[in-house]
Amino acid sequence: MPLLVEKIAEGTVIDHIRAGAGNRVLQVLSASYPLSKMAALIINAPSKKFGRKDIVKIEGVFIDEKTANRIALISPTATLNIIRKSKVADKHHVVMPRALSGLLKCPNPKCITNFERAETTFTHVDNDHLRCRHCERLFAPEELT
Ligand code: ZN
Repeated sequence: MPLLVEKIAEGTVIDHIRAGAGNRVLQVLSASYPLSKMAALIINAPSKKFGRKDIVKIEGVFIDEKTANRIALISPTATLNIIRKSKVADKHHVVMPRALSGLLKCPNPKCITNFERAETTFTHVDNDHLRCRHCERLFAPEELT
């Protein structure tokens, strides 16, 4: 059954978001862009690949690389569909960057980055683990915001 959700004319559809992570993707977007136009969050949509998935549709926003990296952290399976004139003009996967600098706070209270003005850097170990370059502890993407 097709989903009865309004089509967008110009903007981005973020598809194949891990089920349950759509809300966090929307939070990341609202932190980076003024969500003044139509946006839709669809949760638990059926997916052939994953069983269930979340989808975010956002009118008038084209996502930059930094925001795409943050989305990759929340859901490495996400795909970005760039919509122009109501059609998919471009489609690509988000890519978890090898290293993220200055974007996230280290959750380890003893980490030096929480005392000094050192920029945090997290290296990508796999889709479920990132390592702080300073204290070398491993964290799940959910722990880092
Ligand atoms: Zn640390």
